[in-house]
Amino acid sequence: MIATRAKINNLDVNFITAVVSSSKINLKCKVKTAYIGKTNCFTFGHSIYLSNSSSLVQNIGNKPLVYDIKDTFFDSLKDGDIVEIYSNGIVHVLWDKILNHDDLTLFVTNQCNANCIMCPQPPRKDEHSFFEINKAILSYLAKKNIKCIAITGGEPTLKSEELCSLLKHAQKIFPFARIDLLTNGRKLKEFSYAKQLALLNHNITFCVSFPSDNMEDFNKIMGVQSFTDTISAIQNLGLLRQMVELRVVIMKQNCDRLPQIAEFIYRNFPFVVHVTFMGLEIIGNAYDNFAEIDISQKEFNKNLLDAIIYLKQRDMNVSIYNMPFCLIDKRLWGFVKNSISKWKQSYLEECRLCIKAENCQGVFSTTKISKYKIQAIVDDTRKHKIL
Ligand code: SF4
Repeated sequence: MIATRAKINNLDVNFITAVVSSSKINLKCKVKTAYIGKTNCFTFGHSIYLSNSSSLVQNIGNKPLVYDIKDTFFDSLKDGDIVEIYSNGIVHVLWDKILNHDDLTLFVTNQCNANCIMCPQPPRKDEHSFFEINKAILSYLAKKNIKCIAITGGEPTLKSEELCSLLKHAQKIFPFARIDLLTNGRKLKEFSYAKQLALLNHNITFCVSFPSDNMEDFNKIMGVQSFTDTISAIQNLGLLRQMVELRVVIMKQNCDRLPQIAEFIYRNFPFVVHVTFMGLEIIGNAYDNFAEIDISQKEFNKNLLDAIIYLKQRDMNVSIYNMPFCLIDKRLWGFVKNSISKWKQSYLEECRLCIKAENCQGVFSTTKISKYKIQAIVDDTRKHKIL
């Protein structure tokens, strides 16, 4: 469990990011202490108590308190974990020292210059800047062996100054960490901006959303006229010799054209280091538009196989993200990568009987649709069951 709702007492800010520590105070009930930063979000030196009971409410005076935290969540909090606490009582583990021991995700903004039909995190206005928090998190983790930092949003490139400082800071603290910058690429049509980012950190992989080879479908999926911007951005990144990954989320609107998308990518962007075809995370816009974007395995497996074979035969690095084995043809299993963040992985009742469970990343725990067509794989010898 990575998030829960609890009760809050004496917390006069809307949101804080804090580091969990074992309590040294001598109280009878279980309690943990969170050290919090300077500014509204990060006030180092003060503490907020985290408890799984309500008995502290009377004894704690005017100290901030998060109480009645579910036992399972409370017990899973460890020294050094980083949590976010909202004034509405939501407590969320931002960095788990065991699950995320070598990776980290930094959230830069809620804002976006697109509004994709399948976006799991639809754009909204930022209530505060995430910059100081992100900088503090990087500094706090400086001694850890962080190998990969994902920078995400919203659209991170909209916050140009903050993004540049963050990339610089990340380069200084983790000079060898891979940076996955998730972007729709629109802002990178400006060559000077793309160049600026490339010079600030030498380990960026630009993970660009590329839902279609066809301008009309592309713009419809992105909710804005962005096809030409994204094409210019990818060309700029190519000219700058940057590492580019193209991400094709599969849905009703593009599943018929997966082979054409593959061909378009090969013919126009043979320099990209990775192409990935991705399953949906059904939350946010994807949940609201589910009836419009939903597809069955049968509808996409044949085209996915053709697209992947096409790229593989041409020596392109191609894979499949966010899909369990049981939803795809057996011939594609070798392309499946563990891409769902560990804290988002979830297994259903059917998975208990499945012979692939040990290697499978399951489904998104965040998904709000219960009608996953998951079916345990009980016989690995059957041939190409899905097509
Ligand atoms: S049944 Fe469960 S474990 Fe098996 S492939 Fe599907 S999601 Fe994975």
